[in-house]
Amino acid sequence: MPTATHHDALTAITVARSTASLRDELHQLRAEGAKVAFVPTMGALHEGHLSLVRRAAAQGYVVCVSIFVNPTQFAPSEDLASYPRHEEHDLGLAADAGACVAFCPAADEVYPDGFATTVSVDGPSRGLEGAIRPHHFAGVATVVAKLLSMVRPDRVVFGQKDAQQVAVIRRMMRDLHLDDIELVVGPTVREPDGLAMSSRNGYLSPEDRRAGTALVGALRAAQTLVRQGERQARAIERAAAAVLEAEPRCATDYTALVDTDRFEPIECLDAPATLCVAGRFGSTRLIDNMILDPANQSQPED
Ligand code: AMP
Repeated sequence: MPTATHHDALTAITVARSTASLRDELHQLRAEGAKVAFVPTMGALHEGHLSLVRRAAAQGYVVCVSIFVNPTQFAPSEDLASYPRHEEHDLGLAADAGACVAFCPAADEVYPDGFATTVSVDGPSRGLEGAIRPHHFAGVATVVAKLLSMVRPDRVVFGQKDAQQVAVIRRMMRDLHLDDIELVVGPTVREPDGLAMSSRNGYLSPEDRRAGTALVGALRAAQTLVRQGERQARAIERAAAAVLEAEPRCATDYTALVDTDRFEPIECLDAPATLCVAGRFGSTRLIDNMILDPANQSQPED
């Protein structure tokens, strides 16, 4: 596997394609006293990803971003082949946001011949996305465990946008004693009309793009109901579901109010919990969520 590390004067980001060159680069930075924050991504970077990079850089971390479209988290029927890939553009965006190192391995660097280990997380992987995409979270947990072993960061940063992924990774990091790495969650970044930014939004037709705002509309309707005093989980879910059902272009997958760590349904909102929504718009699935806090309903939405 050739190692291609280059310093580009324009972008000032070091690109590592092998674990060896990544470790060399990070070793040098650590020797200079740097603390490393790691932002794993599948590329097609947008403001959601970049906000995670910016925040870590502003807090004094040297930021390493990975760009790797992880094949093991896609089912055969899913969009692995067509997933957007714009590496050069992504590197410029990551550098501008303050990332110093980009880890861009080929698939056989992460999954070499003979690879035989899978990290499978039970508990928070079971419901919602895990029920609809049965192998997805094992793929995510496996690649994140491998990336954390390769990068060995002080901090790893994920987006609230993928709340169940956060719960799964948190569980995995506890179970594998990776909890000396600090896990930080950045807020969901939204388009001006409220649609959560996603690399898959580009798949949407103009009509479905407009209809996609039903997801955030559903979350906000539920939040309003909670602010009015509703605490019964099923009633809160029904309020969200009604908004999705009113959008003819949306085929609802779920509206579920769950415990934020265990990702199991709750009955009563007596502590902060996560309301998750998912729906299909044409052939594109979109997910969104919001933490609902019964005690503090003047908080910002995420
Ligand atoms: P992905 O490239 O989709 O695997 O996402 C990489 C990271 O960016 C994950 O931690 C996501 O949760 C996070 N992310 C994706 N979209 C957003 C968003 N709209 N706001 C905040 N974080 C996001």
